[in-house]
Amino acid sequence: MEQTFILIKPDGVQRALVGEIISRFEKKGFFLRGLKFTKADRPTIEKHYKNSIAKPYFDMLVDYMISSPVVAMVWEGKGVIAGGRKLIGSTDPLATMPGTIRGDFSIDIGRKIQHGNVIHGSDSLEEAKDEIALWFPEEERIVNWHSSLQPWIYE
Ligand code: UDP
Ligand code: MG
Repeated sequence: MEQTFILIKPDGVQRALVGEIISRFEKKGFFLRGLKFTKADRPTIEKHYKNSIAKPYFDMLVDYMISSPVVAMVWEGKGVIAGGRKLIGSTDPLATMPGTIRGDFSIDIGRKIQHGNVIHGSDSLEEAKDEIALWFPEEERIVNWHSSLQPWIYE
């Protein structure tokens, strides 16, 4: 089944949203396959956001992302890449719908180090593969398991 990479950003951790966010993914019917509480280093974040390197906000984005711990996760399920992005909402928290994680819990995208939109989710299969490989190297193997809830959620 499809897998995606989800990262609770520094503001999400500092604002005690870890449990709430994990709960939303669990309740939707996605399955946790990898979980790591860590403080990211600059090279990892620069690789993670390599497609944003030319953006005017890139340096501030990197400073924000290494300012405080994050929670890195792999989630699995049918359509989990697009479905995870739906749970998250769009990039600008004020513009996205209430009911989404960003829509419910944040205001500004990030003009200062402490501001952010709480969570990251891969936006394509290619990005998901790259990000899972970046954050969970081979030796930290993703746990292979099957939830007993699966037959109650998936046809
Ligand atoms: N970002 C920002 N200012 C902007 C746009 C994006 O600080 O004007 C940050 C924000 O944290 C966003 C991240 O850069 O989540 C990556 O941007 P992307 O366009 O990939 O948005 P996402 O995929 O996170 O919705
Ligand atoms: Mg993105």
